[in-house]
Amino acid sequence: MALAPYYSVPSLKSSYWNGRVETMPREELDALHLRRVQAMIRYTYENIPMYKELYGEANTCPEDIQTLQDYIDRVPTIDKRDVVTFQQLRPPFGDTVVPGSEDYMTLRYTTSGSTGIPLQEVGFYTDPLNMWTWGWWAWGIRPKDIFYFAFPFGTFMGFWSAYFDALVFGAQVITGGGVDTKTRIKQIVELEPTVLISTPTYALHMAEVAREMGIDPAKSSIKFVSTAGEPGPAVPSIRRALEEAWGATAIDMYGISETWTAHSLHCPVRLNGIHLNENICYPLVVDENGRPVPEGEVGELVLTSYSAVLTPYVKYRTHDLVRWYKGVCDCGRTWVYLDGGVLGRTDNMIVVKGTNVYPTAVQNVLAADADVSENLEIHITSEGLGDQVQIKVEARPQVGGESYTRLGQKLEEALREKIGVRLPVEVLAPGTLPRYEMKAKRVFDHRQAR
Ligand SMILES: [Zn+2]
Repeated sequence: MALAPYYSVPSLKSSYWNGRVETMPREELDALHLRRVQAMIRYTYENIPMYKELYGEANTCPEDIQTLQDYIDRVPTIDKRDVVTFQQLRPPFGDTVVPGSEDYMTLRYTTSGSTGIPLQEVGFYTDPLNMWTWGWWAWGIRPKDIFYFAFPFGTFMGFWSAYFDALVFGAQVITGGGVDTKTRIKQIVELEPTVLISTPTYALHMAEVAREMGIDPAKSSIKFVSTAGEPGPAVPSIRRALEEAWGATAIDMYGISETWTAHSLHCPVRLNGIHLNENICYPLVVDENGRPVPEGEVGELVLTSYSAVLTPYVKYRTHDLVRWYKGVCDCGRTWVYLDGGVLGRTDNMIVVKGTNVYPTAVQNVLAADADVSENLEIHITSEGLGDQVQIKVEARPQVGGESYTRLGQKLEEALREKIGVRLPVEVLAPGTLPRYEMKAKRVFDHRQAR
């Protein structure tokens, strides 16, 4: 079928949504970033009181930013605390938005923070950037696909943006809001969607419920499970669990609601990591002093987002820990690659005998063992000197109880080899650890409770 001339998608044969930007040589990409970062700094300085004040305190003005090094050296970082503080001065948005811009706000939402004061956010959905589509396209999802949103249309921002992007993508969209899990499964059987949009935990929960209903989800019409909201298919154990359950390809997306959307794309070749979408953000990976860490090392991801227009985030601290690589990827993309996706949060950083331990890295090591399921818990305590970590994993059903001790020792040895410290691992029978419906809790930081 011919499409109307105004409807434009990439060549159906191309694996890139926008090959020019996805494979842009680093030098050219950085030149583009510099122009965009300069424009964002000027825009925020001139229009948003919070930035004017923060730049003033840092003694920086737009003219000072002539290079990306100037951006690194001179532009102050902001984080959620700053934004909430400025919003509290004059709620709801205070001095964090362009004055008078309320008329243009299209979708409003709040996110909770550790301080208990919600962050007020607002979408301005022009979205020519259409962020989710880049990842879907890379994996071979096309407008002929049918999307099923196993999403209650609640407050999780990620799937609102996915929903709008799916519409723009040109796919048929089925909204699975307002119904229970069994009804969703019946709809999938009846309407035969090909793409399931869900959190990883809920997709696994759905598969379990389907099997209880006598329906094998692996034989359903679902070809892709596209997830977000928590560590996903870039972690091998989670990918394996999703792919086995649904007989489908599992795709990861990572984003933060502050930047409105998925700002990354699961690499279709190097499956254990994601690319930051450098068309919509400029990433830095920094140490605790805000200095960039060398390639291959772990640091905090700091972003300037080009996507949130009315509530821009310039040099925003995500508090997500990532291990970054540059260079041309095997998939052809030049965008920064984050190995293992998000490895943890700066607020539950673990140091055991002087070694940094990242929850996702632990998960990756355990996942490499075929005798272990994706259900695990990482408990962090602090007694005396340094942190202590206790890991609980569930064995797969085929592993006999008499082998649990040996399996635990094998896992401890693997952790020592890959991470550099021996962490105690307790192996439990299948079904011992709690199941979660929407988002799983895997890291338990008991240090905060002290
Ligand atoms: Zn890649």
